[in-house]
Amino acid sequence: MERHQNISADIPKWSALLIEAVNKPGLIMKAYSAFHSYSIGNQLLAIVQCQMRGLQPGPINTFPKWQALGRHVKRGERALTLCMPITRKRRGENCEEESNGEGTFPSFVYKSRWFVLEQTEGQDLPPQVIPDWEDNRALPALNVERIPFDSTDGNCQGFARKRQIAINPVAQLPHKTLFHELAHVIIGHTLEADFADTEKTPRSLREVEAEAVALLCCEALELEGADYCRGYLQNWLYQGIGFDASAIPEKSAQKIFRAADQIIRAGRPREKLDAED
Ligand SMILES: [Zn+2]
Repeated sequence: MERHQNISADIPKWSALLIEAVNKPGLIMKAYSAFHSYSIGNQLLAIVQCQMRGLQPGPINTFPKWQALGRHVKRGERALTLCMPITRKRRGENCEEESNGEGTFPSFVYKSRWFVLEQTEGQDLPPQVIPDWEDNRALPALNVERIPFDSTDGNCQGFARKRQIAINPVAQLPHKTLFHELAHVIIGHTLEADFADTEKTPRSLREVEAEAVALLCCEALELEGADYCRGYLQNWLYQGIGFDASAIPEKSAQKIFRAADQIIRAGRPREKLDAED
């Protein structure tokens, strides 16, 4: 049934890509600066493939898009594989997937269609500009309200309630705390409970999800806090019996990548309608 299963067989799982990003400081930053118009999951997929093949990370496009840009793919070059979201019609019982109640559910397929700059030749490209990110753009776009910090707990760095967040004006890492609290809202944790975060993040899967989103955002946008998040996540991953690659469930990894993407895209200037290919 699935035409692309043969391609996806050797593609790393999202949880494995996330652990790679946790364990390799600088990887997300490099991936974002080369591939910022793609989703974070695809950025990491692309950079891992570039590293395996010894290709310089840089702009990526499909074969026809390179032609439109006045360049052509060199003979014999093998395409990179990225993931594309699709909407599937529900057929039969499949409790694994989340349904939107309309008989369809989001899914994705892997396709090998992209080539990095180094695999092409022709006209020079205009210089790449990385869009800036602003929290004042992100919050309204995400339908999240920033409220005054009213906690009397001196250790509290920030909190999230329903679709409201507050950051302690003297928070140690204000951007990290902002991303962490936004993640609690966007992933849906605040539908279940309020979150008040002290400078010691407790050990729970929800906190891992929020902290991983903060890591991806801080490192991609080069804002202070990535080291702290990395320390927390490594500590969590290596606890007890040592390194546990399956410690972060695949479903959590997907939520983490999706939330980080939403936050990053929401804070950038409105993008021109330009599909990923
Ligand atoms: Zn938290």
